[in-house]
Amino acid sequence: MIDTHAHLDMADFDQDRDELVAEMSKQGISSVIIPGVAADKWQHQLDIADKYQWYFALGIHPWYVPDEIDRAIVLLDAMLQQYRENKRLVAVGECGLDKLHSWSNKQLLLLEKQLHLAQTYQLPVILHAVKAHQELITLLKRCRLERGGVIHGFYGNRQIAEQYIDLGFKLGVGGLLLNPSAKKLRQAVTELPLEHFLLETDSPSMSPFDQPKTRNTPLILSRIVSEISFLKKNETVCILEQFNKNTVQLFEL
Ligand SMILES: [Zn+2]
Repeated sequence: MIDTHAHLDMADFDQDRDELVAEMSKQGISSVIIPGVAADKWQHQLDIADKYQWYFALGIHPWYVPDEIDRAIVLLDAMLQQYRENKRLVAVGECGLDKLHSWSNKQLLLLEKQLHLAQTYQLPVILHAVKAHQELITLLKRCRLERGGVIHGFYGNRQIAEQYIDLGFKLGVGGLLLNPSAKKLRQAVTELPLEHFLLETDSPSMSPFDQPKTRNTPLILSRIVSEISFLKKNETVCILEQFNKNTVQLFEL
């Protein structure tokens, strides 16, 4: 298993990262993708990714909109240029729109510029989308990306999911699926082909509903896979195989 979205570079893991990694490998979690969030955090993120030979993405999260967007984009461009030959650089992101967090047009501007970089460097994007599906879909229709990307931590109904799929995007599914009240998501996963989904946890955020206030880790992946196996009425091995295929295909691992 690969956790396609885990912020394991965060300080939450500083005390026991080695132990967690040992436990992950015991459970068959072979790697993770660490998304980038802000320019001042990239170096530490790269150091951690290097230490464990994990995959990474470079980008600016909508919670970290910089004062000077153009300057930040120049820095991101330079980083992408510097790491473009590195096989573990797999995407631009995490970028996106979040209406629950200092929402303004600056988020849209920052995202659009990152979409252009993804197209320039021929990379997929890892997108964060909270209460902004319509704005995001409109933007993605205007800025078509050859390699598409993933709507990470997807929460929406089947119709929204299908619009992203038509635009060449996959949908990241994590701990939210374990929550019986996440009905729209559970229905989308049940009804749509598995080839459109990716496995992720968004650790340390998005702890499962039955473990609130605890730090989330990639160790919940097996619970998510079991739940999908239950919803799809299919064996765990088949589910795992399909997820691996989807991950390898999107990120060209
Ligand atoms: Zn994230």
